Amino acid sequence: MNEIIYVNKKSKIPLLGLDFLGIIDRGTNIIELKPITLCNLKCRYCFVSAGEYDTNFIIDSQYLIEQVQTIAEFKGHYNLEIHLAPYGEILLYKNLYDLIDSLWEIKGIEIISMQTNGLLLNPDIIKEFSEHNLTRINISVNTFNPRLAQYLCATDNYNVEILLRNIHMLLDSNINVLIAPVWFPGENRNDIMEIIQFIVNLRDEGYTKEQIQLGIQKYLVYKTGRKLKKIKPRSWGYFYHQLSELENKYNIKLKLGPKDFGIHSRPLFNFPLKEGEIISVEIVSKGRWKNECIGKINNQFCTKVLLNYPLEYSKDLLGKNIKVKILKAKNTENLITSYVPYQ
Ligand code: SF4
Repeated sequence: MNEIIYVNKKSKIPLLGLDFLGIIDRGTNIIELKPITLCNLKCRYCFVSAGEYDTNFIIDSQYLIEQVQTIAEFKGHYNLEIHLAPYGEILLYKNLYDLIDSLWEIKGIEIISMQTNGLLLNPDIIKEFSEHNLTRINISVNTFNPRLAQYLCATDNYNVEILLRNIHMLLDSNINVLIAPVWFPGENRNDIMEIIQFIVNLRDEGYTKEQIQLGIQKYLVYKTGRKLKKIKPRSWGYFYHQLSELENKYNIKLKLGPKDFGIHSRPLFNFPLKEGEIISVEIVSKGRWKNECIGKINNQFCTKVLLNYPLEYSKDLLGKNIKVKILKAKNTENLITSYVPYQ
């Protein structure tokens, strides 16, 4: 069994700076939380390769809340949205309901939303979500075709019928639903059309544009992610052109921007660094893979340290102060990636 690291105050792992864990700030009113890296699936197209990490992480909810309070204070206690969107599956997070309750206690949080593959939903969980006032749930449904769904998500346990039943139950429990299919060029165009028709039908039945939303996503390929064989990602131009065609066909808005999701800019809680800069960090943990570890910058910020060949993580690194070179640090988000050895 792969190792699981529990991240709490004592672990000395800061919650800001990593892309795969903690708190992501992109300078908007959305505070994105990634409290867990475990996933119940290993989708063939997963751009973060979840489900097969060597090491997984789970953050203590109290530790997370304390940090969210700081960010909320910094951004201003109004019109904030918490978006729970792990590189993994949020329904595997044990303290989810407590976390939601504690988040609601933070002044200015008006929306709590989450992202899920939906397979672990059931009537009991939906009832809990309703009781804990979850605002919206984003479900990644790429097709209603059971065989294709099972293929894409690499599982025999994908039951489309049950998922659809749960979506209806969510809607009837006053939880908004956003269906978020990934468009795989040449693979699921007809399936996307079926999903659009499904949304159109629900709106015809009386559900509002807020209650049932659709966010079609472009298939993206990353070096460290899994890729679908035979499917080549297409350009953004092609993607938007396809969406325009379907917008005309179904008379529905599909090209959505930040405004459609109530996103606006807000101060960014950042640690200012420049690419190429060399800083000293304390190695406080291994990462998800053997060529990755976590370097602490201060009590709030850390950096994902990429260990370049021939270096690999070993216990000898733990607690060491080492110099790393900044690979990625932007002034639009709080993510910091660095590497070692460097020249
Ligand atoms: S795509 Fe989502 S559900 Fe599938 S493996 Fe990745 S994180 Fe898990």
